[in-house]
Amino acid sequence: LSQLFRPLDLLGMVYRTIRQGVIDMGAMFDLIDTPSEVVDAPGAQPLVVGNGHVRFEDVHFGYDAGQPILKGIDLDIPAGHTLAVVGPSGAGKSTLARLMYRFYDLTGGRITIDGQDIAGVTQDSLRSAIGIVPQDTVLFNDTIGYNIAYGREGAGPDEIVRAAKGAAIAEFIERQPLGYETRVGERGLKLSGGEKQRVAIARTLLKNPPILILDEATSALDSRTEAEIQDTLEDIERGRTTIVIAHRLSTVVNADEIVVLDSGRVVERGSHAALLRQDGLYAEMWNRQAQERESEEDGALAAE
Ligand code: ATP
Repeated sequence: LSQLFRPLDLLGMVYRTIRQGVIDMGAMFDLIDTPSEVVDAPGAQPLVVGNGHVRFEDVHFGYDAGQPILKGIDLDIPAGHTLAVVGPSGAGKSTLARLMYRFYDLTGGRITIDGQDIAGVTQDSLRSAIGIVPQDTVLFNDTIGYNIAYGREGAGPDEIVRAAKGAAIAEFIERQPLGYETRVGERGLKLSGGEKQRVAIARTLLKNPPILILDEATSALDSRTEAEIQDTLEDIERGRTTIVIAHRLSTVVNADEIVVLDSGRVVERGSHAALLRQDGLYAEMWNRQAQERESEEDGALAAE
């Protein structure tokens, strides 16, 4: 009989995993690639989150044996601080975030939250302590209210409105004739990239996690929308331990610490000003992006 139930158990697990938020991580964590071998350790206890002090201690990891991706990462993010992770494409930035959410187990070292190794706590408790604002938000073919409420089961209408206000999308919703009952998705209202991101921020506010992972969208938002979203994000980061995976350096200037990842190693770390003074990889990336911004602005002026 137990043989018979096993596939059902597996289905139940997949379903629960989806409910618990895999789906709202969108492109950052490819659902298809999500391994099923990560299981709760025998006797795993729920994570007890105090202030949310996160540490990576000599973390090693590779997706395939013999192909190391992260090669000894040490990070210390004091409670309430913001760490920005930057670096060339393929350096391992998103991998760090996936490990934090324990989509994979490490090949060496450990990650702790308030002193507890995340490999030894229940996955449910770990995932409910971490909120993710992904690059691309998956919306359901349902109402905008439902899409926000997805952040936390059982959220009431007042809480949904409060979250929408915190994410600066409430006015937009209230302008729609059906308000929170407006359907979105394929057969409903189409949301812009920035509006979708605000839905993700509202979901995260409802979840109210002590730890945040922000995966900055690579797709270009216009610079005004980007600046407005940036302001909203800075608001929700306050009082939470935050890891920002950044593609545009202009958004990390105020981080407490910036680490530059290259080929799976931290090659530079420090504040924005200190890293510019070092005149290394960060300074090179900064100068290149500044030049790109200038030529975009020149292009925009020429077009006027
Ligand atoms: P980007 O800025 O382009 O998003 P990144 O720094 O976030 O890059 P990661 O996505 O962490 O980089 O990838 C690091 C390395 O791991 C890359 O070489 C990538 O090809 C590899 N990789 C990522 N996901 C997988 C996977 N599921 N299986 C095998 N290799 C993977």
